[in-house]
Amino acid sequence: DIQISQDVTFDSMLLSKTTLQGLHESGFYKPSPVQLHGIPLGKCGFDLLLEAKSGTGKTAVFTVIALEKLDLSKGLQAVILAPTREIASQICDVTRQIGSKYEGLNVAVVMGGLPVEEDINKFKNQVHIVVGSPGRLRHLIQDKHIDVSSVRLLVLDEGDKLLDKSFQADINFIFSVLPHQKQVILSSATYTEGTKSFLKKYVKSAQHVCPDSNCILLGIEQKVTIVKYNANIVRQTQNRFEELLKILSKKAFKQCLIFCNYQARVTELHKLLMKHKWPVEQLYGQQEQTDRLGALKTLQDYKCRILIATDLAARGIDASNVDLVINFEPPFEWQTYLHRIGRAGRFGSYGMSITILSEGKEETKFKDMLHLLEIPFLDINSIGCNDNI
Ligand code: ADP
Ligand code: MG
Repeated sequence: DIQISQDVTFDSMLLSKTTLQGLHESGFYKPSPVQLHGIPLGKCGFDLLLEAKSGTGKTAVFTVIALEKLDLSKGLQAVILAPTREIASQICDVTRQIGSKYEGLNVAVVMGGLPVEEDINKFKNQVHIVVGSPGRLRHLIQDKHIDVSSVRLLVLDEGDKLLDKSFQADINFIFSVLPHQKQVILSSATYTEGTKSFLKKYVKSAQHVCPDSNCILLGIEQKVTIVKYNANIVRQTQNRFEELLKILSKKAFKQCLIFCNYQARVTELHKLLMKHKWPVEQLYGQQEQTDRLGALKTLQDYKCRILIATDLAARGIDASNVDLVINFEPPFEWQTYLHRIGRAGRFGSYGMSITILSEGKEETKFKDMLHLLEIPFLDINSIGCNDNI
């Protein structure tokens, strides 16, 4: 393990001047623990398994490593994969910003849902780093629009998600056509045991960079609220909705993300909240791609207060003013829970999450999950602070 003192700055990390200037211009002066540990190892060429909580700056780890390895006179050198188009476009923005002092640097983002011709055109000029969703990238490589022969770095952001069955064929293809000699970096806040063993297929002897010791996300107060159970799903949703309105009117927040398990619930909630005159946007998979990116942008530009979304937005999304996450219903998996609540409290800022539970079975199940994660079960009502959550 590397021992690093508390007040290290990026200046002392032996980075090139160009990268350093880009970091400063992005407002980054002190590295987070995952940056402090991950960047030097990555610069040495090790494969990495980055495991650090949401909002701790994992994007800059692989972005800086990609930039530091770059030879601008050569072709495509880094391929960065992300499970959603929103995350891909965000990574592209970060890479361009930190790389802003690299003259002639060309970073492209490619994604399904937008016309393929536009993506093909992006490769008419020399691209150095490409960020994309696995499906579109595979398509472009297969049709020989992208030459991958000089790629030296492959990044899988939200790596455990990318190993899901739905991405498997695309990832396998991309992995197999890239040059054998390459560095591989996986990044995520959570890994299941199953994925960890599977990872060995891609990264045989990766350095495991894991600076956090437990699952509790610092800076995020996690709470629950319990509503009456009703076997009738319409009634049950109504109960949740009334509780949601109560939270929104009582709790002070800058911006709020509301998660639902199903798209239909998202559109339903969107309508209801509009009716109650809340400034809301929605985000789910079946929307047009431009609407999806638009909804996210209104949130990031602080043009809407509330975004209702499916778990499409649970991972990776970085909107620094989100300080409240509401789970309209609990997610099915604990990983999703940690990713969802990680949307609040980005990079050490303060946030709160409130999960709406129905009394009985759902409540017990959720309690068990929190227990496993060593997170206390705090009911906003029973701790006597409902008036001022
Ligand atoms: P993660 O991928 O780990 O969830 P991100 O890479 O999205 O986190 O970063 C979260 C936020 O922290 C972003 O808004 C980013 O700009 C900010 N950030 C990252 N590194 C630093 C740093 N060293 N100094 C200041 N802010 C940072
Ligand atoms: Mg991320």
